[in-house]
Amino acid sequence: MGEPEDPVRLPRHGHHSVAELFPQTHARTAPRLVIKPAPVAPPAAGQVPDPDDVGAALAPVVEVLAGRRVAALTGAGMSTDSGIPDYRSPGSPPRHPMTHQQFVSSPAFRRHYWARNHLGWRHLLAARPNAGHAALASMEHAGVVTGLVTQNIDLLHLRAGSRRLVHLHGRYDRVVCLSCATVVPRAEHDAALVALNPHWRERFQHVADLEIAPDADVILDSTADFRVADCPRCGGILKPDVVFFGDNTPRARVEEAYSIVDDAEALLVAGSSLAVMSGLRFVRRAHKAGKPVAVVNRGPTRGDDLATVRVHVGTSEALPVLARELGA
Ligand SMILES: [Zn+2]
Repeated sequence: MGEPEDPVRLPRHGHHSVAELFPQTHARTAPRLVIKPAPVAPPAAGQVPDPDDVGAALAPVVEVLAGRRVAALTGAGMSTDSGIPDYRSPGSPPRHPMTHQQFVSSPAFRRHYWARNHLGWRHLLAARPNAGHAALASMEHAGVVTGLVTQNIDLLHLRAGSRRLVHLHGRYDRVVCLSCATVVPRAEHDAALVALNPHWRERFQHVADLEIAPDADVILDSTADFRVADCPRCGGILKPDVVFFGDNTPRARVEEAYSIVDDAEALLVAGSSLAVMSGLRFVRRAHKAGKPVAVVNRGPTRGDDLATVRVHVGTSEALPVLARELGA
């Protein structure tokens, strides 16, 4: 996923070439694949309790959330145990996602993006919800969790059964026309890309371990021969229905997310480092209203100062315990 609305971290490379921006992916001319191991997040020493002690570590969280209607805010850390790496985890390599401005201003950037997405989106399609997603869904069904705001585009909360759910940064299964707003299902768009690029994906079938980013990006050396599909209705530019770096989250969606926080009596942050303002603002909202904020995340977060309690545990370990303790 990109990192919208964060002026500090927003790269400004408007006049650079694709090769300059992605040197590792454009170093050679032949279509080749760079395979990198998915980054493992080594937690800082002393921050992770023994698995047997997860229950004890979570006791302060249970104390804060018990008897309250809870809003949940989730991020990439939720999905690492579903095989989707979190590029903000400790130890992860630096990454430079494409900005909205790059995507809309340059056919070369769009070609590059879609070529990589053409491979990567099927990894999201194949991903399955983990125990953390299931626990949040069961807490919602039990009336403990009253709504969920996610920064993830992978739809794993939806597939786990969460119902009152805002996809703050969009969803990978839709493509939208920037001119006429036609929405094309990603699977339909896939058929168009396959027709334009026969045998293109087959080149990479033998590679079992493509690096896959949370935004369905994969690392390719060259995408120069990829052909992009335009809007089937007006010929306009098609963009995935996800919020890029430098893009704004639609206002109505932000308001819907605020209402989830406002309707609850506490906020649970799960698997997000809150590195971008789009997530941090909900912590500020809850804190300002005097509502307790509990953070369950493998590393430190930018909202730690505002948190009532923080626990450095992975979400797929912590949330099932939390669900049980809160009576879900
Ligand atoms: Zn159109």
